[in-house]
Amino acid sequence: MSDFLPTGIQLTYLVAASLFILGLKKLGSPATARNGNIVAAVGMLLAIVATMLDQHVLNYEMILLGLAIGSGIGAIVAYKVQMTEMPQMVGLLNGLGGAASALVAVAEFWRLLDSSQSIPLDVNISMLLDVLIGGVTFTGSFLAFAKLQGLISGSPITFPFQQPFNLLLLGAYIVGSAYLIITPDSLPIFLGVVGVSLVLGVMFVIPIGGGDMPVVISLLNSLSGVAAAAAGFVVMNNMLIIAGALVGASGLILTEIMCKAMNRSLFSVLFSAFGTGSSSGGGAASGGATDQSVRSIDPEEGAMMLGYARSVVIVPGYGMAVAQAQHSVRELSDQLEKMGVDVKYAIHPVAGRMPGHMNVLLAEANVPYTQLYDMDDINPQFDQADVALVIGANDVVNPAARSDTNSPIYGMPILEVDRAKQTIVIKRGMSTGFAGVDNELFYKDKTTMLFGSAKDMVAKLVSEVKQL
Ligand code: NDP
Repeated sequence: MSDFLPTGIQLTYLVAASLFILGLKKLGSPATARNGNIVAAVGMLLAIVATMLDQHVLNYEMILLGLAIGSGIGAIVAYKVQMTEMPQMVGLLNGLGGAASALVAVAEFWRLLDSSQSIPLDVNISMLLDVLIGGVTFTGSFLAFAKLQGLISGSPITFPFQQPFNLLLLGAYIVGSAYLIITPDSLPIFLGVVGVSLVLGVMFVIPIGGGDMPVVISLLNSLSGVAAAAAGFVVMNNMLIIAGALVGASGLILTEIMCKAMNRSLFSVLFSAFGTGSSSGGGAASGGATDQSVRSIDPEEGAMMLGYARSVVIVPGYGMAVAQAQHSVRELSDQLEKMGVDVKYAIHPVAGRMPGHMNVLLAEANVPYTQLYDMDDINPQFDQADVALVIGANDVVNPAARSDTNSPIYGMPILEVDRAKQTIVIKRGMSTGFAGVDNELFYKDKTTMLFGSAKDMVAKLVSEVKQL
């Protein structure tokens, strides 16, 4: 079909695809990320306009209606969603993407059946793959959303004979698909294959625990791209194939980065039911089960430690994001710098709830990129830091990940704040972090706790530091 498309449309697709790639490249650095977003968005606009001009488009009214409804819902959701709810928001969008791709295959099947045309083998195979990947992405993502949003339990759900049952479902899909390749026009079997694909999505996500859900979201993001590429093959649209492949590949890279940052293999994320009993991600899980004592200070003492330091490393975590303390943090670091203190920010790749979470928040508060240091760059510098100021971070600074082989987070690379001369930790109480494990950092001699909500406490520090 694409062979008959006017050359102009194909050329526009080529320009749009180049803009996507350029945009993705720019997303690789915080300094160019905003620009990258705009470049990719322009590419998408070009692709949409070119597709709308395509002679095969039959009904502009329906498209515009869909566009208006979709954009309206999208705008409302984008305004309402909290930064800390991004994983489930991404999950929801992935699910819709998967559903849209699967519906392309269903609609195309219906159209071909209705017009009594024969279904070519390549289109048939693309439709079957589209239905499988799109269907799994749809139900899997919605289930992931429900888990992260706390609508259902975030813990892994397992039952006897789960794996044999999954194999049975996969077998049913393969048999159904084989039947359809031989007899392409069987509607009941096609609908059966769609149903099995939807159930497979549920079965894929239910045994995965809360702590691993963001990795699963990222994998589903990749699958939504692959489903879109398959839909592109169904309707022979080059743009859809390219855009889908880019989403598929970048989602897979993100999944790999997250697994590496948590020192988990993708296999163990998918099949080991990690995360049972972890906190739901709100950062207010049960307190640490230890009778060791901690040393608590007040903002005035904290301000003195910071104000008289030569170098301070700020470690933001999920608690800073929840409290929306980034602007106060920026104010604090500006004030300290004015007083001659060298201030750096240490960014853990999975601090918060999404990769890049901290970078985005700090960029929003106009923290200069040059002050942000990746884990590998900052860890060798903690020895020389007078104070490490941990703001609402917990798991990503837990030394047990280095030393306690029994800890569920053992092996996860951490920010080595305990190597600094002093550590101040701002958090509300002794609750555990996302992984639900106690943190020995809080009980160390060199560690002092500033109990309170991050925004409040940092604001108090700012006013105390100003009085030094
Ligand atoms: P954590 O979830 O480990 O800890 C956050 C801490 O913030 C809590 O202990 C909580 O303690 C505190 N907190 C909550 N609200 C506030 C507030 N208003 N003010 C001050 N403190 C607050 O966060 P980290 O960033 O250290 O670690 C992220 C975790 O998420 C890791 O386990 C990581 O593996 C996981 N994760 C991250 C992913 C990513 O891509 N970023 C993906 C998957 C998982 P208290 O209630 O006592 O205040």
